[in-house]
Amino acid sequence: MLTCLRNVYAVISCDEKDRVYRNCDVWIKDRTFYAIGSCDEQPDEEYDCRNMLLYPGLVNTHHHLYQYFTRNLAAVQGFELFDWLKALYEIWKGLDTETVLYSSLCGMAELMRYGCTTCFDHHYVFPQGAGDLIGTQMEAADRLGIRFHASRGSMDLSVKDGGLPPDSVVQTVDEILRDSQRVIEAYHDDSRLAMHRIVLAPCSPFSVSRELLAESAPLARQYGVQLHTHLCETKDEERYTLERYGMRPFAYMESIGWTGPDVFYAHGIHFNDEELDRIAATGTKIAHCPCSNMKLSSGVMRMPDILERKIPVGLGVDGSASNDASNLLEEIRSAYLLHRLAWGNRAPSGYDLLKIATAGGAKVLGRDDIGTVEIGKAADCFLIRRDRADVVCAEGDPMNLFGTVGYHRPCDLVFVNGKCTVKDGKLTGLDEDGLAYNSRAAVKKLLEKA
Ligand code: ZN
Repeated sequence: MLTCLRNVYAVISCDEKDRVYRNCDVWIKDRTFYAIGSCDEQPDEEYDCRNMLLYPGLVNTHHHLYQYFTRNLAAVQGFELFDWLKALYEIWKGLDTETVLYSSLCGMAELMRYGCTTCFDHHYVFPQGAGDLIGTQMEAADRLGIRFHASRGSMDLSVKDGGLPPDSVVQTVDEILRDSQRVIEAYHDDSRLAMHRIVLAPCSPFSVSRELLAESAPLARQYGVQLHTHLCETKDEERYTLERYGMRPFAYMESIGWTGPDVFYAHGIHFNDEELDRIAATGTKIAHCPCSNMKLSSGVMRMPDILERKIPVGLGVDGSASNDASNLLEEIRSAYLLHRLAWGNRAPSGYDLLKIATAGGAKVLGRDDIGTVEIGKAADCFLIRRDRADVVCAEGDPMNLFGTVGYHRPCDLVFVNGKCTVKDGKLTGLDEDGLAYNSRAAVKKLLEKA
């Protein structure tokens, strides 16, 4: 199949040379970008892109899709992280395959409509007898056509062990490791252009034991899958590890083998200088979630210091209940404003943040086949029309547009591995009215159970 995106007004490649191509054709073949510019072959399909801006697909590096059905609940809106978690676990303990299917579909659908082509999800709530939740998420991703990195998350400390979650959603270390191995063998695909990958992701230092963290690392390394957890999100977490282990969170993680190029942390707000130096030296990576950090009053990540040290960083929307949207274009804009406020002239530009959301995210997820528009890379991209009043003048600097101006419409076209997944702002793989109807019924059931 040969696809031609004809006469694109501007292609913002986000490659290492920051190339922008003007008025050119973009050709897609065998799931990858095949040519940028002229090509003598006859395309099988063609899209008229003469008034469109084309960007690499956005990469979401942190999410909890299951939380989509606990968004905007009035009872928890005033809480910070620990109290917020304790209140919501009472609902999340009722998760099953139906709620996971529909919440994953809704969350990923929203991500895709706003330009996301790869989603990492951190799922760590596995109520007893809930079924194959990771398999269910893979099925949801396939229906929509999004590239999906699922995680086999985990928790083994409940309230009775000094943790936050209720007993019914924690498992033993043995159960967790056995199921981790199962999902890696069933779903992990390490080939180039792969649509499914698995990550091992114990929830956080305050909800899992040292043993679980320590034993997850060699299992992940045996299979060559990544490791992920929340780290340095709040000062409460810092107090917890100091009290329990006599170490700051990063020292604790480093002491049990949780640093390296195969490890990425969500948030990474409360690091000191020495810790940032160690993160850089070990090649460890960070998923930055600005909207969530602001909403839960967690703090401001030290973005300029992180970029100066060349620590790989990507953007994530974080859980649907701590944001409460799943829109990476909005994260770019929010990150831009947050860091301007916090760091003034040291803050990243709109274009820096676009690169963090694309090439940066790819690096965080350990992929060299996505994140930029270059020949041979996966044909993951999104396009927006410039012939609209809300883009007038802003399109003069398409590299900075999302940070400095913001953009609030669904995309006009989105491609994943060369396949059109969104057209005119609508999903091509799924009837959105039907999805909304079925999802509302699933929300009702979940909330009634609690
Ligand atoms: Zn999170």
